[in-house]
Parts: sequence; structure tokens; C-alpha cells
Amino acid sequence: MQNALATPLETVPRVPPEVERFRVEYRKENVGPHYSGWLHFAFTSIGSLAVLGFAISRVHDMAPLEWLTLPLAFLFANVCEYFGHKGPMHRPKPGMGILFQRHTREHHHFFTHDAMSYESSRDFKMVLFPPVMLFFFLGVIATPVAGLLFLVSSSNVAWLFIVVAMGYFLTYEWLHFVYHLDERSLVGRLPMVKVLRRHHQRHHDKALMGRWNFNITFPISDRVFGTYYVERRGE
Ligand SMILES: [Zn+2]
Ligand SMILES: [Zn+2]
Repeated sequence: MQNALATPLETVPRVPPEVERFRVEYRKENVGPHYSGWLHFAFTSIGSLAVLGFAISRVHDMAPLEWLTLPLAFLFANVCEYFGHKGPMHRPKPGMGILFQRHTREHHHFFTHDAMSYESSRDFKMVLFPPVMLFFFLGVIATPVAGLLFLVSSSNVAWLFIVVAMGYFLTYEWLHFVYHLDERSLVGRLPMVKVLRRHHQRHHDKALMGRWNFNITFPISDRVFGTYYVERRGE
């Protein structure tokens, strides 16, 4: 059953006072004078592309079955994104409180469905993962899985897994980044971005966030696990 409290998406470009208060306080306490949103964006993009390029360069003489790694790793990443978001990012788990804090308590209060856009590049900090997450993601998640794949299959499969994992990580970062751009911007008006942003914008409605639309990139797992929010007329 869908939540009757869901509010209309027809946005007023004004930031609600309680969101503005949160933003002012958050920026004062967490965004230092030397923070550069564009540098943060560049680090995430260039760092991910460098790893991606290196991993691609290691793949050679592919056997036909090894190509299956691409769709399978993509679906695996989509399921991980879904449960990572639905789980520790929305429900505090022992040892992972920082994810709940940063996502539910901060990201969801800084941006709501009726105040989705950055006010300046200093607000990128509330969307992009901290730079250290790139190393964490690569060292603690992608590399051990790739190592296991190397042991049980082949080096091509292992490197292709890294390719998909890094590609997925960067896609997540870039898509989430553009959802929080001004929707009237050039990128914000792209048809695919519009559709995917609407999915994420619904999730930013506090009345819906605990139950619907946990995929941030492509809503495949939301469809499979029955958490794809279907809008009704008039909502
Ligand atoms: Zn968001
Ligand atoms: Zn969320």
C-alpha cells in the first residue's frame, strides 16, 4: 500500500525554512573554508577513471563465456546498492552508524523532495562520497571479491569485475550528482536524467524514504523486490 502522506512533486523553487536552517547549520559545522566542490568532483571522477582504465588494460584474450561477467557483475552491483541503501544507510547497524548518520540524518535533511538542488558547489559535499570512500570501496569491497574470482575463475573475470565495480561506483556518483543539480540545467533536462531523478526525488520525500525507491542508479532491484513507488493520479 502506498503512503497517503506523499506530497505533490510540483516544486516551488523556494527552500522550506526548516531545510534552509539545517543547511546553514550544516555548512557552518562541516564545510571548511578550503573545501572545493569541483575539486572533490574531479578527484572522484579522475580517481575512478584511472582505476577503470587500468583494469580495462589488464583484460586480454577474452573467452566468450567471460563476457558474462559484465551483466552479472552489473546486476550484483545493483543489488548491493539497493541493500546498502535500504539497510545501513536507512537503518542504524552496529559498526556502520556513520552511514546512517551521513545519509538519513544529513543527506535527507539537507535535500528534501521539495528542495533537491545545490545552492552552490560547496553543497557537493553533501552528495559525493568522501574521497576516502574510493579507497575503502576499492580496497575493502572490490579487491577481495576480485581476488576470489581470480582464484575460482580467471584473471579476465577478476579484472572485468573491477571494471564493472568502478564503473558502477562512478555512475552512482555522477547520477546522484546530477539529480541534485538545478532541474532546469542543461544536464538536468536530459530525458533519462529526468526519469531517474524523479525516482530519487520521490525517495527524498520523508514520508516515503523508509519504504520506497532505494536504487539510486537504475531501479532494477526496486522492481524485483517490490519497492518501486508507483505514482497515482493527483500525487
Ligand atoms: Zn539524494
Ligand atoms: Zn535514502
